[in-house]
Amino acid sequence: MKPARFDYYAPQSTDEALSLLSQHGDDAKVLAGGQSLMPLMAMRLARPPVVVDINRISALEHITSADGGGINIGALTRQRSVELSDVVAQRFPMLSAMVPHIGHFQIRNRGTVGGSIAHADPSAEWPAFAMASDAQIVLSSSTGSREVDAGDFFVTYFTTAAETGEMVTEVRLPGSGAGWGWGFEEVCRRHGDFAMTGAFTRVHLDNNGACDDSRIVIFGVGGTPVRIESAESVLRGSNGEMQSLEQVAAAVSEALDPDSDIHASALYRKEVSGVMARRALVGAFRRARGEEN
Ligand SMILES: Cc1cc2nc3c(=O)[nH]c(=O)nc-3n(C[C@H](O)[C@H](O)[C@H](O)COP(=O)(O)OP(=O)(O)OC[C@H]3O[C@@H](n4cnc5c(N)ncnc54)[C@H](O)[C@@H]3O)c2cc1C
Repeated sequence: MKPARFDYYAPQSTDEALSLLSQHGDDAKVLAGGQSLMPLMAMRLARPPVVVDINRISALEHITSADGGGINIGALTRQRSVELSDVVAQRFPMLSAMVPHIGHFQIRNRGTVGGSIAHADPSAEWPAFAMASDAQIVLSSSTGSREVDAGDFFVTYFTTAAETGEMVTEVRLPGSGAGWGWGFEEVCRRHGDFAMTGAFTRVHLDNNGACDDSRIVIFGVGGTPVRIESAESVLRGSNGEMQSLEQVAAAVSEALDPDSDIHASALYRKEVSGVMARRALVGAFRRARGEEN
């Protein structure tokens, strides 16, 4: 099918794009990589009267180092640029490990960081990664910009804290300092499919090798990624021994109330999420101890 009729604008600057979004309000949709929006429009599941194509705004395409080991990624940066970036590999190896799991390289060549974040698909990797990394999402409008913590940004299925007239302009990843390790695991039927469930974990070890801080975020199990603080509490004080990781896995499964769909039952998602968390934590402890990159 072909999309319903729409007015098309191709602004050359962020200010021009934001002024168009302010002018057209809820009628306008941003077009970034088009990997999700165009199929929805072609199937007429989305019928925006106005499309604001941001692909000519080069200022929105960047990966820059920030103080304290962080990086800032412009909304229009392609997934593939993140995958191939040296600074990302050096500062955020969890991100380098994650990006190849997003669809296929043809999709990553066009699909953007801001598009994945704004689309807020609960089975997508970026929202969960952002939450596990304590990222801030920059939302801009014609009247200014604000930073929203990733934990507050994702509201429910395909819905974010962005208000009418706002656009994602940057994703800011803070550096985490020494003593942290990461782990990422997901399960899907075929490589490149959306995950049925997955886990991003980060652990910080004290001088005795015991966990004193962590993030455990599961995705594909509801309307948004879920940070499971009850499981993080169970992990506190653990040296990563299997018995304690089994207890954490049980706490993860216990905390979840996922849906069933054609890809997996709720029970499968509940059980396997715990397994994903446990496996990701094994990797996180190894990396925190310096046994793995
Ligand atoms: C076959 C296939 C497999 C895929 N597999 C995966 C996968 O495994 N994991 C995964 O995470 N994703 C997957 N995707 C989705 C892909 O990552 C998309 O690129 C991404 O979800 C949307 O990014 P985009 O730049 O293409 O956004 P678009 O399609 O251009 O836009 C998507 C939505 O976000 C809005 N939007 C875009 N940019 C902004 C912005 N800067 N500010 C505000 N709103 C904005 C649009 O208005 C629209 O509502 C897959 C897609 C396809 C087609």
